[in-house]
Amino acid sequence: MRPDMRVFFALQPDPTLRQALSSIAQRLHAECGGRRMRDDSLHLTLAFIGDVSEAQAEHLIALCQGLDCPAGEWPLDRVGYFPRGGVAWLGSQATPQPLDTLHTRLWHALAGEGFTPPDQPFVPHVTLLRRARPPHSEAIPGPGLTWRYNRVTLVHSVPDGAGRRYDTLAHSPAV
Ligand code: ATP
Ligand code: MG
Repeated sequence: MRPDMRVFFALQPDPTLRQALSSIAQRLHAECGGRRMRDDSLHLTLAFIGDVSEAQAEHLIALCQGLDCPAGEWPLDRVGYFPRGGVAWLGSQATPQPLDTLHTRLWHALAGEGFTPPDQPFVPHVTLLRRARPPHSEAIPGPGLTWRYNRVTLVHSVPDGAGRRYDTLAHSPAV
């Protein structure tokens, strides 16, 4: 039997935004140290699923390809920190309602497939550093950004050397 696959649903930045996120990560790294995420791994996790069988992954690919993701904007206007793991991240002062709704509707669809929604509230964030020291302030080092999105991606998290790489399994239809 093939081993299980670790998968999650995410928003992925376009190349311009990816570059901007990378340069913020660089500045934050100068302040907080730690380990930077690979630029090609920067993302927002909408729904972490964990290990699934290949058959379940096929279901999730179909679910992703049938998702309705209205275009939206997510202002990236604050730095945050999770002490556990020393995670320094980029996010927003207030989650826009449409992004919150996208998360809720995605989990509603997943619950219909037997997956259990998290107990924790949704704190949308882009992890920039791990094992980092706490940032001095919530201010973004450099200009603030807006993330414009119009599709959801189903990602396969694949062990790769000491870390992981994220392979795309499916996209929702672009709007
Ligand atoms: P590693 O765990 O090997 O350090 P990683 O954290 O980059 O690698 P994954 O563990 O596959 O990769 O996680 C993929 C995404 O899902 C990341 O954004 C991670 O923060 C998030 N994630 C992982 N586990 C959970 C969880 N239990 N609940 C919510 N989100 C999670
Ligand atoms: Mg992890």
